[in-house]
Amino acid sequence: MKIFEKILSVVLPHKCTFCRKAIEYTNNTFICKSCADTLPFIKGRKCIKCGIPIDDNAMPVCSVCRRYKHSFTQGFIPLVYKDSVRKSLLSLKFYKRKSACRAFSYLILNRIIEEGFPTFDFVTYIPVSKERLKERGFNQAELIAKMCAEHLNLPVIPTLYRVDDTPRQSKLSMRLRRQNAKKSFMPLDVKLNGSALLIDDVYTTGSTLSHTSNLLLKLGCSKVYIAAVAISSKN
Ligand SMILES: [Zn+2]
Ligand SMILES: [Zn+2]
Repeated sequence: MKIFEKILSVVLPHKCTFCRKAIEYTNNTFICKSCADTLPFIKGRKCIKCGIPIDDNAMPVCSVCRRYKHSFTQGFIPLVYKDSVRKSLLSLKFYKRKSACRAFSYLILNRIIEEGFPTFDFVTYIPVSKERLKERGFNQAELIAKMCAEHLNLPVIPTLYRVDDTPRQSKLSMRLRRQNAKKSFMPLDVKLNGSALLIDDVYTTGSTLSHTSNLLLKLGCSKVYIAAVAISSKN
């Protein structure tokens, strides 16, 4: 370790995003060895469309994707939303822990590589309402998208806006989520082409990501791939 890194590691130690234990200053993934081995990764068979875990003898496309025909091409989701994953996502949401974005983007990109690494032309993200942005000062999905774009050497393009005062998706049933997603998101005045990587923090039923993917297709995208840090077990 170089001398200035040694000094920095004492003054400003890097911490693991998930367990908060000190890690080497040169560890740019912000994930300790122990967490890298024990995080609740989505393993085994996955839906070929959205990437959620499915049974060994189930059909290759999950029942939600079969029923709702999502507008996105493929989803990349590395983790299950529980325990330290849940805590670290909440700490990003409320404390803007930028190192967490590094860890999350690293895990998303790893999942993309494992799943065949399709070509993307730009990265975009699910927006938050003006009210929420004012209250929190940042949008966590945008921060993760920026970090992914940095690794992929691609531009980040804002493409959508969120209409204020629609009910929060997490409190609604699947049918209402789909109706609500339609009212909640609108396209910005942009012309797009090529293939998009659309980022959110947590994937629940796919209704938000499906509707927003459809908006991106209408704006001119040829394909929309989606990625989120974790899947919530509400499915
Ligand atoms: Zn750790
Ligand atoms: Zn699926």
